[in-house]
Amino acid sequence: MAIKENLLSIKNSLPENVTLIAVSKTKPVADLMEAYTVGQRIFGENKIQEMTEKWEQMPKDIAWHMIGHIQSNKVKFMAPFVSLVHGVDSLKLLEEINKQALKNNRIIDCLLQIHIAEEDTKFGLNELELADLLSSETFKNLKNIKIVGLMGMATFTEDQVQIKKEFQHLKSIFDRYKNLKSEICDLKFLSMGMSGDYQLAIECGSTMVRIGSSIFGNR
Ligand SMILES: *Cc1c(COP(=O)(O)O)cnc(C)c1O
Repeated sequence: MAIKENLLSIKNSLPENVTLIAVSKTKPVADLMEAYTVGQRIFGENKIQEMTEKWEQMPKDIAWHMIGHIQSNKVKFMAPFVSLVHGVDSLKLLEEINKQALKNNRIIDCLLQIHIAEEDTKFGLNELELADLLSSETFKNLKNIKIVGLMGMATFTEDQVQIKKEFQHLKSIFDRYKNLKSEICDLKFLSMGMSGDYQLAIECGSTMVRIGSSIFGNR
């Protein structure tokens, strides 16, 4: 397995403004450490318990990104250390993250997940729900979270035209809200693109790619 080579070749191919999240879910700490030794410092996990175990075992200069769907009752386990939460798709979840961030005397950065895929299996807010959330009084009173961008996943398909359409849609939503700057909302990051579609995502304006299997091999 050539984790170091995979990582470096992907990293070197990315434009300077694009951040690479190495998605290490299901992979052992030894694999993550290989990536770490060649300079990778941002890892993405989709289960809070697994991420917490890895955080405990690994060097403390790693930024841990939670990219998966989140159960409210587990937020407390990641609140002390999580660096960015990608998959926030409800006000209720945001309130829980805010509550746990407060307990840890932190402000936790979050991305709002937008539903762009055709399948209804993928989580996320639609445009109306996004507008409602951002304009709600409850949201405006949260002091320990900050919305720093949007995240989305395209439909799982070979159809590049379809995927491109979905990425462009997310970019257009991002552009619409990016100038709406406040204490708790300042959209800087657009998290879209995985192993199979990150080049297309970057063409469509992604600034954060979440790449797993192309670095660590199939799961
Ligand atoms: C697993 C996962 C990825 C990485 O997928 P690969 O196809 O292995 O690159 C990206 N984003 C999310 C939300 C994931 O769950």
